[in-house]
Amino acid sequence: MAKMFIAGESVDSVTGQTSEVRNPATGEVVDSVPKGNEQDVRRAVDAAEAAFDEWAHTPAEERAKMLFKAAALVDAERKSLSELLCREQGKPVMEAGGEMEHFHHGIEFYAGLASKVRGSQVPLPAKNAYGMVIHKPLGVCGAIVPWNFPITLMGTKVGPALAAGNTVVVKPASTTPLTTIRVIELMNQAGFPKGVLNVVTGPGSVVGEELLRNKKIRRIAFTGESGTGKHVAEVACGDFKRVTLELGGSDPMIVCEDADVQKAITGAMVGRFWNAGQACLAVKRLFVFDKVYDEFVGGLVGKVSRYEVGDGMTRAEKPKIRMGPLHTAQQREEIEQQVKDAIDRGAKVLLGGARPEGEQYAKGNYYLPTILENVPDDSRAVTEETFGPVLPIFRVTSLDEAIERANKSIYGLGSSIWTRNLDNIETAIDRLQAGNVWVNSLHYGYDELPFGGVKASGFGREHGPEALEYYLEPKGVVITR
Ligand code: NAD
Repeated sequence: MAKMFIAGESVDSVTGQTSEVRNPATGEVVDSVPKGNEQDVRRAVDAAEAAFDEWAHTPAEERAKMLFKAAALVDAERKSLSELLCREQGKPVMEAGGEMEHFHHGIEFYAGLASKVRGSQVPLPAKNAYGMVIHKPLGVCGAIVPWNFPITLMGTKVGPALAAGNTVVVKPASTTPLTTIRVIELMNQAGFPKGVLNVVTGPGSVVGEELLRNKKIRRIAFTGESGTGKHVAEVACGDFKRVTLELGGSDPMIVCEDADVQKAITGAMVGRFWNAGQACLAVKRLFVFDKVYDEFVGGLVGKVSRYEVGDGMTRAEKPKIRMGPLHTAQQREEIEQQVKDAIDRGAKVLLGGARPEGEQYAKGNYYLPTILENVPDDSRAVTEETFGPVLPIFRVTSLDEAIERANKSIYGLGSSIWTRNLDNIETAIDRLQAGNVWVNSLHYGYDELPFGGVKASGFGREHGPEALEYYLEPKGVVITR
């Protein structure tokens, strides 16, 4: 059985209770983990608080070296960790490997920034006095992580938090704790003082809730669904904690008449169906100009037909591409309801729209990659986030129309435009209501750039040097000679 990691030790829950983690491809139990409760969170928070002073005053260069070492220790086990991630999350092992690589890159990115934090000196209108702005770590930070990219989204929190001198308690999603636990054990082997990096497993309503309410926690970094995010904001902001919220999205992708159609098709395919569509920044609404609509849609349907759903532990035979199951049965039901609603309102299914048939699929949460057209704007597949392999396509006649419809969403996470026309590019960058715009590029979160949303997609940023600022408090100092 896997254990939580608190104060430098692998431990059970104080209650001794456990819960099972099941493989979404087979329904089999992968392992079990402690079912933590409030007391377990308090143990971890107390350990993180006790470790804070030492860690905050460890020279930044040393913190950086430990983070580089932590990244290397995890990377050395990339293969076994990718397989574990595949078995608990469902994503193909090749995609899991990509996630581990992204984590490694992110931790190294923040390790490099640990010693680059700068302050400033400020002239003041007072005699013999000057001001300074210095940056101090906040204290104990809570990192609440979803199940879709459990490792990279943990890294985007832990990396900047530790680099800046904070200590952390991580809470993974209940269904994806195993790889996280192993990664945190390995990172601790780099020599962090006990209590600097902890993980507590258990239900969001218990473990997550205690993180939001614990008075010793100074900051919550949350990634998850917008409804949960609203609750997180109400409770944690109400308690004067610093909060960042990385929430849901319904990213529009706009394909103009002068786009490189083949590249745009690949962008739409990977952008929608990677991780079986369970990505916040996935292409969730596709607007295609009338003139290239038939060419684009025909090409996309052909290319997406190459996906073969199945257990992510085995590769599909070329030219097929593996797509794993949905993460939970509930997630699949949600997608089925959204597709049914679209069809009931008149949508046409161009591909998929059902579970795959066959004995081999009986035990997993499989769903076919699905492409829809003629989806009315008031359908759930348009107004809600579709967190699965379903892509509605819309025909548009102008950029104005595309942008107007793209912005008609409660979400504002990512967006993309595919065109060679500079005017179109500038207009889209200026007018799309989103935290991120990709131009002729795949929807992807680079560590080098700030990433986050507007509207119901949340606030604050992860990734980029900007993320470090969310883990530092500016302190004004006045010095008089
Ligand atoms: P979720 O909101 O159900 O859960 C996220 C985390 O919050 C889990 O660890 C869960 O246990 C915890 N949690 C649940 N209730 C809680 C509570 N009361 N207090 C504190 N923590 C609690 O989200 P999910 O289903 O795991 O993830 C999918 C969602 O995440 C999608 O909406 C997706 O778009 C979003 N997401 C956003 C980003 C981004 O960067 N914007 C990235 C990935 C996923």
